[in-house]
Amino acid sequence: MLSQQVDLVVLGAGAAGMMGALAAAERGLQVILIDPHFEQSNNFAVSGGLFPAAGSSLQAKAGVLDSPGNWLADLRAFAGSSLNERIAESVANALPEVVNFLIHELDAPIQFLSDVVSTGHTQCRFHSSTPSGGKSFHQSFRTRSLNHPGIEFSSRFANVEKMAQGFLVSTPDRHWQTRHLMLAGGGFGSNPQWVSQHIPSMRGALYNGAPNNDASVLALGLQWGGYLSGMDGFQGQGHTHPGGVTRLGMAIPAMGGIMVNRMGERFVREDIGPSALAPYVMAQPGGVALEVFDAHIENGLTNHSAYQEAVQAHRVMRADDVPTLAALAGVDVHGLQATLDSVQQTAQGLSRDALGRDSFTHVLRSPYLASWVTGALSHTQGGLVTDGDGRVCAREGQWVHGLWAAGGCAAGLSGQGAEGYLPGNGLAQSFGLAWRMAQSLD
Ligand SMILES: Cc1cc2nc3c(=O)[nH]c(=O)nc-3n(C[C@H](O)[C@H](O)[C@H](O)COP(=O)(O)OP(=O)(O)OC[C@H]3O[C@@H](n4cnc5c(N)ncnc54)[C@H](O)[C@@H]3O)c2cc1C
Repeated sequence: MLSQQVDLVVLGAGAAGMMGALAAAERGLQVILIDPHFEQSNNFAVSGGLFPAAGSSLQAKAGVLDSPGNWLADLRAFAGSSLNERIAESVANALPEVVNFLIHELDAPIQFLSDVVSTGHTQCRFHSSTPSGGKSFHQSFRTRSLNHPGIEFSSRFANVEKMAQGFLVSTPDRHWQTRHLMLAGGGFGSNPQWVSQHIPSMRGALYNGAPNNDASVLALGLQWGGYLSGMDGFQGQGHTHPGGVTRLGMAIPAMGGIMVNRMGERFVREDIGPSALAPYVMAQPGGVALEVFDAHIENGLTNHSAYQEAVQAHRVMRADDVPTLAALAGVDVHGLQATLDSVQQTAQGLSRDALGRDSFTHVLRSPYLASWVTGALSHTQGGLVTDGDGRVCAREGQWVHGLWAAGGCAAGLSGQGAEGYLPGNGLAQSFGLAWRMAQSLD
């Protein structure tokens, strides 16, 4: 069987792979996009679909003053020395261009979410599809990828051979030769051996990501001379419902919500971020916490797809007073009452928080709402070391010629545990690096 010469082969049709394929195809390159699990979910589809693009045209139109530099400052303040400086600036500068590309060249329904606040971001800067959420965002990319004349799609498993010049990619019915190969098969969250080895604290923990992030594509880069970095970094989820199907979303603490255990007692300053919260929640009796908020906060969550799905799944309890809420949830009523009294005092500036939380934003009042949550591993941040354009680096300071990576296959923005993960880092890196790669292909 003859092999066809193409410009780029992409392994994995998730957030990074579809962004890379679409951006390259829009430049006139001929792209093969391969994903044998195309009919199953991936992390893009289960995600909240929120990505930061500081300094975007949509932010400016909404009157929000922001810039890539502001986001970089937030990233550095949040993650400190664990921030992946090899890619941070390049990704930050790429994201406003990604927004323009999605709107003007792909005609994608992108919106700026002016009401989505998050711990660690000093500005509202999340963007998503319309309606917001990973499911619809993924669907919009999928439709565009399947219909793009410059992209040919295959749902067969591919065997890849590295040759002296480029790569030979074979499925049972086709062969392609390419000078450029993009690894975009996701991270290793669904691979228990890799999780045990690299993130021992999350061995056996609930995983609420997609099943095909199993390191199979990432491992190809290792085989050809790439190396790994930031392997203990991950996105934790401290707001996941037991079972992992739905979650509350990240915004409730930033809007004034609190978390208590079965004794009705707070156990952590809730403003450390949704990722860092996961291990604290898992350490509580039964590995769960009750997230408590109120109707005022719920009114601000209309644009939050994860929260709306949780309500539809009947995961949110409502009560007019504390004893009714405590009885509904099965927590100690005296503990809960004392906690709410104390939080209300602090929120009004009458006392300091014993756990060191800086701000409660809002005084919680009846009617109260609450939901039981647990901690989960959502996706892994460690991966192949790349430069800021997504080239896979070899140890000797060279790159593995023709090999590119983004998304879960590439080292993410934030390393070291769950604490360094600033919300939005996952899609920011996936889109930003993939975009940079597409602009750099010759
Ligand atoms: C619950 C949850 C919520 C999240 N929320 C957010 C959020 O709101 N904002 C944010 O920034 N990030 C979020 N993330 C993280 C974000 O989803 C990921 O960072 C992003 O999807 C990674 O993109 P990816 O392309 O590497 O992986 P994916 O999107 O998972 O795509 C990988 C693709 O590779 C395919 N594949 C696997 N093996 C092979 C193979 N052998 N050959 C070819 N293809 C293969 C898979 O089928 C899949 O389609 C969330 C993650 C989870 C799990």
